[in-house]
Amino acid sequence: MDFNKYLIENYSVDEDVISLCSEAEEELSDCFIKADETAQFNTLKVLHAMQKNKLSDIHLTHTTGYGYNDLGRDVLEKVFANVFNGESGLVRPQLISGTHALTVALSGNLRYGDELLSPAGRLYDTLEGVIGIRKTKNSLIENGILYKQADLLENGGFDFNAIEKSITTKTKIAAIQRSRGYQWRRSFTIAEIKELISFIKSVNPSIICMIDNCYGEFVDIIEPCDVGADLCVGSLIKNPGGGLAETGGYIVGREEYVENAADRLTAPGVGKEIGPGLGIVPSMLQGLFLAPTVVSGCIKGAVFAAKVFEKLNFDVLPRSTDIRSDIVQSIKFNNPDILNEFCAGIQNAAPVDSFVRTVPSYMPGYDHEVIMAAGTFVQGSSIELSADAPMREPYIAYLQGGLSWHHAKIGVILGVAKLKRKGLI
Ligand SMILES: *Cc1c(COP(=O)(O)O)cnc(C)c1O
Repeated sequence: MDFNKYLIENYSVDEDVISLCSEAEEELSDCFIKADETAQFNTLKVLHAMQKNKLSDIHLTHTTGYGYNDLGRDVLEKVFANVFNGESGLVRPQLISGTHALTVALSGNLRYGDELLSPAGRLYDTLEGVIGIRKTKNSLIENGILYKQADLLENGGFDFNAIEKSITTKTKIAAIQRSRGYQWRRSFTIAEIKELISFIKSVNPSIICMIDNCYGEFVDIIEPCDVGADLCVGSLIKNPGGGLAETGGYIVGREEYVENAADRLTAPGVGKEIGPGLGIVPSMLQGLFLAPTVVSGCIKGAVFAAKVFEKLNFDVLPRSTDIRSDIVQSIKFNNPDILNEFCAGIQNAAPVDSFVRTVPSYMPGYDHEVIMAAGTFVQGSSIELSADAPMREPYIAYLQGGLSWHHAKIGVILGVAKLKRKGLI
């Protein structure tokens, strides 16, 4: 019995799907070598940070209550700061999500009357609620912050003229989103982020350049703070949690700005001093240690999906041969039924809740119904194989994750096999 026979016998995968997928995989060896090299380098970087900070047995215990002198938490934050090249880090289970970490970083550093600039178009859907672009209570705008946005050019590039015009003496933070969010756009490479930061600093050097690094960690061998970012923020149930962190977010960067964020997360004057590890710190450390390898599997899975859907004549972003800056693969289906069935197929391919049928539904923070396939060990984790999509035209699936390349590949095969069985491709 081999892999393909097992798929055919146990999962009713069509033989055409098997040969299509085998062909796709064979064409990807160069890209796989590159993903492995990146993982190798980033593993070394993480290992070095752990050694440099003398990570020890004692750090794998935990505190409760106030969490004063939580040695594990403190070393975790130093390791994160080193890996992401920040002066300081705030890495906590009390940062519940990417949106929360971004909110804490923004509201900790913005004061009444300050301006927040998005120099690269729309920000992530949930941030529209945080900022108050979509009307919410307690938004930044309601708290006296002004918001400006310079949209991207039609070719997807930065509109440097518009950015320059949007900057004033009151501009305090420029928020740059590396990954695509629920948009049909490329993710910005570190080189592009560098160019954008340099430009912004040339207009006004005191602007805090903050990168939403969600889904971007360990895709490259350098990170935003290596090219001048002052703050870099992300979620631990995405890339840097390596699938093991059970919750959490991180904020790294310049010490002053990280401390401002810490004062917002806990209380002014208390900042980073409190915050119990609650037993989650060891999984955060171990997850970070595995994250480069896990991310390389996700990239292989994403490229594989791109190749397979290219062969099926769907529009994909990035293309299988493009340079990547995040783990997300967008597939444009132009059809709600195909989108629905593909997400259902990904759900059926999961280790957890494989028998569940996904249906589009309301999600807090989003203004369209969202369909989400996430049969994950950590609830809502999207470093595990997952697919999600707002139910709106042109019906784009955002596929990402996979704790191993093997699972990511199986997921894509089963997703495609489902479309074939339903006569949709
Ligand atoms: C996922 C994501 C977020 C928000 O993270 P949550 O953990 O879902 O709140 C923000 N920005 C980008 C680009 C993301 O991909």
